[in-house]
This record gives sequence, structure tokens and C-alpha cells, in this order.
Amino acid sequence: MKIVTTKQELRAAIRGVKRAEKTIGFVPTMGFLHQGHLSLVKKARATTDFVVVSIFVNPLQFGVGEDYDEYPRDLNRDSSLLAEVGADLVFAPSVEEMYASGNSTQVEVLGLTDVLCGASRPGHFKGVTTVVSKLFNLVQPDFAFFGQKDAQQVAVLKKMVRDLDFPLEIVALPIVREEDGLALSSRNKYLNPAERQSALVLSQALKLAEKLISAGEKNAEKICQKMVQLIENQPLAVIDYVELRSADSLELLPELQGQVLIALAVKIGKTRLIDNLQLEVKS
Ligand code: AMP
Repeated sequence: MKIVTTKQELRAAIRGVKRAEKTIGFVPTMGFLHQGHLSLVKKARATTDFVVVSIFVNPLQFGVGEDYDEYPRDLNRDSSLLAEVGADLVFAPSVEEMYASGNSTQVEVLGLTDVLCGASRPGHFKGVTTVVSKLFNLVQPDFAFFGQKDAQQVAVLKKMVRDLDFPLEIVALPIVREEDGLALSSRNKYLNPAERQSALVLSQALKLAEKLISAGEKNAEKICQKMVQLIENQPLAVIDYVELRSADSLELLPELQGQVLIALAVKIGKTRLIDNLQLEVKS
């Protein structure tokens, strides 16, 4: 496995892979890797010829007062994990390298980014789509792998790929969880033991919604209210949003039908966590 930090080295490596007509699988990350990230790399390894992983904590997608400075970083540990699962190339640029030419061009997907995390974190998705566009141009992947953990990100990036004709396919993979249900996240590192326990309320609320839906409940408002009640019983939890929307268009669904996304963002102490569940509701 090779680790490169400059665009020039990355481009040179990619040129060789393209010349050999190998398919490229790409996994963009912010590092501090866990089994969720590694599930994407393993899928890329199993389905493409050459696996590129980027590790870059992108300042553009963090708002003022968010955790850009504290975000956990450990390139040595990440590199050994990636070598174990068979990545071929790691691209770990500095901020100066990534935005060497300044930053006056941005990519923005309209509409889908106004709701959910887009509403709570203004500018976040513009930062994501800008950096992912740059990475797609550099890596030229055939397939790019993303986690359903960031369901809105998947919807936004699929739209960007369609709208801007990026010649690649986005592959979305299931959320990897701890045994007790907590979705893996680099930000779980911020949680103290009491917060770690409280954080279970996110997956518990999703399980409650699933149970209500399988019992025949289709009224989004009613399901949402019950989820909110459950979360509000947890003293360390402060709700950012709890919403039931169409999985593709992200439109609100008063009456559940088709592919439904149940998404929530909850602050546990100072740590903002997200989780979601996607399921099919038959009419
Ligand atoms: P991040 O490093 O947080 O930017 O995440 C990089 C990629 O890993 C994104 O596509 C995330 O959706 C994905 N990811 C993060 N957590 C999980 C998880 N628990 N299960 C599956 N994928 C995940």
C-alpha cells in the first residue's frame, strides 16, 4: 500500500492504473477509521481492481464553532488498518495542498441540502460537494463508496453525480453498529461513559419507529411524536431534528409510503450524533 500526500503523486499513480485499464474504487473519509469506514474499503476491495482511500478533514464542511480543531486524527493507525484490509493507495493531503489554488469555486446541490443536516449546518453540504468533486476529478474512480450512515450525503452526492455527469457510480452501504445499536462514528470518541450510554437513545428511537410501522402505523406525525417523547426522557439528549421523509427526494411524507428515511440528529452533551433508518412502507 502506498501513501501519498500531494496531488501530483496521486495523479501519477492514477495514470498508471488507468493505463492498465483497471477499475478504480474510491472511499473518501475524514480518517480516524472504524469498522464502518472499513466496510466500505472491503466492499471496494471485493468489487474493484484498485482501491483508493482519501483521508482529509475538510475545513470547508465545518461551520463556525463546530469541531474542526478537535476532530480526531491518527494517520499511523489509519494506515495500518487500511493496509490490513488491502487498500492500494491512501491520499492524505494537507489543507494547503488540497486548496493550493485558493477556494473561490464551490459546488452546490440546491434543494436537497435545505433540510435535515443542511438546515442545521448551513454550508456543510457545499463543503462536502466541493471537496468530493475535487477528489473525484483527482482519483477518477469508476465506483465511489459511501455509508448510509450519512443518508442525506448519499442523496446529495447521487444528485451531484447525475447533474454534473461525473462518469462514476455511487455505491451506498449499510450502517455498521456497535452490538448495543450505537452507529459507529469517529465522533463517538468524544462521549464520556454516561454520554455513551445516553447515546443509545438514537438507535432506540429508530427501533421504536420501526416497531410502530410494522404494527401498521403510517402517520409520520404520530411516529415522530413517540420518538421525540422517548428521546426527551433521556436527560443528556437534546434533539436537533427527528423527521420522516422520502428516501430519494427527501420530501416530507405526512403519510408513509415507499422508501422512507427516518432520520435524526441529537446532541448528547456537546456531541452532535446522527443516525437513520431506511425502510420500505407498502401501501
Ligand atoms: P467520515 O469519515 O465521517 O467522513 O465518513 C466517511 C465515510 O464512512 C462516509 O461515507 C460515511 O457515511 C461512512 N461511515 C461513517 N460511519 C459509518 C458507519 N457506522 N457505517 C457505515 N458507514 C459509515
